[in-house]
Amino acid sequence: MLDDECIFCKIIKGEIPSSKVYEDDYVLAFNDINPVAPVHVLIIPKTHIVSANEITEENSEYMKKIYEAIPKIAKEAGVFEDGYRIVNNCGENGGQEVKHIHFHLIGGMKLGLKIV
Ligand code: 5GP
Ligand code: ZN
Repeated sequence: MLDDECIFCKIIKGEIPSSKVYEDDYVLAFNDINPVAPVHVLIIPKTHIVSANEITEENSEYMKKIYEAIPKIAKEAGVFEDGYRIVNNCGENGGQEVKHIHFHLIGGMKLGLKIV
């Protein structure tokens, strides 16, 4: 299910252009419009899930598909060998801006600010 008002749902529908890195029936990955590292890919489920708080038994298949896609996306982005970081921001304190769950894959350099 997609949400008419959601910017990432619009990207899934092709109503907003994106620079696609990977796509299958469940998952879309595209370059972040405002990259914080040489590689900064956003990985999203092709259904409107607001945040980690909304993951359920009914929709967790999408999370499985996302994690199965990560090695492929990392290879496609050229960071498989050197490593990368996967980040999910949830809610106000997590700093989540777009209310459609997404995983940042960042790499292409030695990453600093390691808080966990
Ligand atoms: P958050 O802060 O919610 O974890 O991350 C949202 C991310 O979405 C940000 O890194 C921001 O640059 C990215 N973003 C927001 N709007 C767009 C867009 O229209 N296209 C793309 N490619 N990225 C976007
Ligand atoms: Zn959405």
